[in-house]
Amino acid sequence: MLEVHQFPCLSDNYGFLLHDPDSGETAAIDTPDGSEYLRQAEAKGWEITQIWNTHWHPDHAGGNKAIVEATGATVVAPREVEKLSPIDRVVGNGDSASLGKWQARVIDVSGHTNGHIAYHIAKADMAFVGDSVFALGCGRMFEGVPEQYWNSLDRIRNLPENTLLYCAHEYTQANAKFALHADPDNAELRLYAARIDEKRAKGEPTVPTVLSRELATNPFLRADDADLRDRWGGTSPAETFAALRTAKDHF
Ligand SMILES: [Zn+2]
Repeated sequence: MLEVHQFPCLSDNYGFLLHDPDSGETAAIDTPDGSEYLRQAEAKGWEITQIWNTHWHPDHAGGNKAIVEATGATVVAPREVEKLSPIDRVVGNGDSASLGKWQARVIDVSGHTNGHIAYHIAKADMAFVGDSVFALGCGRMFEGVPEQYWNSLDRIRNLPENTLLYCAHEYTQANAKFALHADPDNAELRLYAARIDEKRAKGEPTVPTVLSRELATNPFLRADDADLRDRWGGTSPAETFAALRTAKDHF
């Protein structure tokens, strides 16, 4: 079975180490903090053999150099990561990455940055989505445009509903406040928000989240919903998404 080791990193990032016991391979999913990743891998008795980056931001690829120097790991990344680190294999939409016998399909989820990708491992029901989508939220649209970002979210919406989404930040409690503002009549969202408050009060992570629940509660994945369109405007889901994203930026 594929093992995921999740740990807090920097102020609100999550680090993920993905380990395949059969081959002994370990992938660092993004590298917010190289030395913390190396410590965590050593504590597990794992050696990092690959780095899979989702996008170029320093809290996602800034630790590549330290990890490669310490382990010789192979860097798999979208081309934009060249801004920060050399890449051994550039990947984009439809490509795959493998860890032992496990295959991850690369999905274009651009919008937060123009080269942002996610890694979907269908046989393990998991996807590493970086800053494209969060529990009850999505990334800021730093580089992309609304139609592009909405199409990216639509690709995530079309993954199997039981997919676990490994988001890169613990932003859920703040996201829930905006989600309740955006979609106040959503009963399932209210229940979910209450559970999030309980988890955070105990210091527990809210990541990963399951896609089926996000489809019912995350306003950014529901920009094609009639209630949200009526409330936020727009003549297309991309326009409703844009209105929600702008509102969240100023919330
Ligand atoms: Zn980012």
